[in-house]
Amino acid sequence: MPVEAALERLLEMADASRIVECEYLPLAQVEGRVLAQDLVSTLDLPPWPNSAMDGYALNLPDWEGEPLPVSQKVFAGQSPAPLEPGTCARIFTGAPLPAGADCVEMQENVEVQADGRVRFTEPMRAGQHIRPQGQETTVGEVVLQAGTRLGPIEQGLAASLGCAALNVVRKPRVAVLSTGDELVEPGQALGPGQIYNSNRVVLCSWLQRLGCEVIDAGILPDDLDATRSRLGELQKVDLILSTGGVSVGEADFLGIALREEGELALWKLAIKPGKPLTFGHFRNVPVIGLPGNPASTLVTFALLTRPYLLRRLGVEAVEPLRFAVPAGFVWPVAGSRREYLRGRLEQGRAIIYRNQSSGVLRSAAWADGLVEVREGSTLIEGDEVSFIALSELLG
Ligand code: AMP
Ligand code: MG
Repeated sequence: MPVEAALERLLEMADASRIVECEYLPLAQVEGRVLAQDLVSTLDLPPWPNSAMDGYALNLPDWEGEPLPVSQKVFAGQSPAPLEPGTCARIFTGAPLPAGADCVEMQENVEVQADGRVRFTEPMRAGQHIRPQGQETTVGEVVLQAGTRLGPIEQGLAASLGCAALNVVRKPRVAVLSTGDELVEPGQALGPGQIYNSNRVVLCSWLQRLGCEVIDAGILPDDLDATRSRLGELQKVDLILSTGGVSVGEADFLGIALREEGELALWKLAIKPGKPLTFGHFRNVPVIGLPGNPASTLVTFALLTRPYLLRRLGVEAVEPLRFAVPAGFVWPVAGSRREYLRGRLEQGRAIIYRNQSSGVLRSAAWADGLVEVREGSTLIEGDEVSFIALSELLG
């Protein structure tokens, strides 16, 4: 299954099970959350015309080129009197423009004479250095749409409109399960044939960044009864996310349990690293089973699970930004799957980590992004590839 088709299916399922409950949170607590209602402006921004410069405000049509006396001084936060005809006003950045003034000249372009009058030395035009009322937004305008992910900038925008709290979609509850008899948690001694569980902490941290409430469901042995009962305990979550146990050739206990008590789609994705991906339901809870190799977990989480979760929260634009960059490597043999190489940008070119094995998480720690090489294509240096920044995917 091509990556796009899998994503389309996942997004359809997400659309059918959007999380609609919301909570009203103080602005300081909405970082990383999704806006549940359009944010409509109750203000003009700015609320009144104001000066963009430290300088002098005057009425240009009335002015005949003569030096003007200063009739008032207006600081930010003050409310000025109308401009006296035949004068100018000393004005500072952010201060309201006196009624009757239609132009601000910056202080660098004037000469203050010994008698205190101000001589304007440069050509001026009406409206210059004035921020008009409502230039950013006007009352009634939708400033942020429902489904917008909230970060520092959106928080600032809401604050500028006087919002102290926002309605956000409640956090999705995601249970993280690590399957594999070989897995041991860090901190414990490693026995023969065992490896440390790294996927768990990768997914738990990542999910938290995406605004999820994480239920760490621990390590699940490769055993059908244990799988059934653990899945049965996780019935109050919005998603069960498991890793491992979906490779071809291995007894797929997750798949069996889903088939028995829910439904199962097992996809062979045309993606590398990645390939096998389980999607289904256990009773009524959606389940995504990612391949267990650390780089496969990372790539399938980034490109499929992340957008699925964001869409369940009501986010429309769930696809990460891709930048076209020249390849700084060669790709002589075309693959049948789309490859996501762990790479970096160096001098404007994408280079890739020397070892692209799906078991090597270090490749991703070295990398700044995923370099997308399309199925069926070969590359010479300088050919265009897509680069998806990890910073984009991780947030
Ligand atoms: P699986 O998908 O279960 O066949 O696992 C594929 C490979 O990933 C095997 O080498 C596993 O040992 C490894 N693996 C599976 N789960 C984890 C995990 N949670 N942390 C680190 N490696 C894992
Ligand atoms: Mg396994």
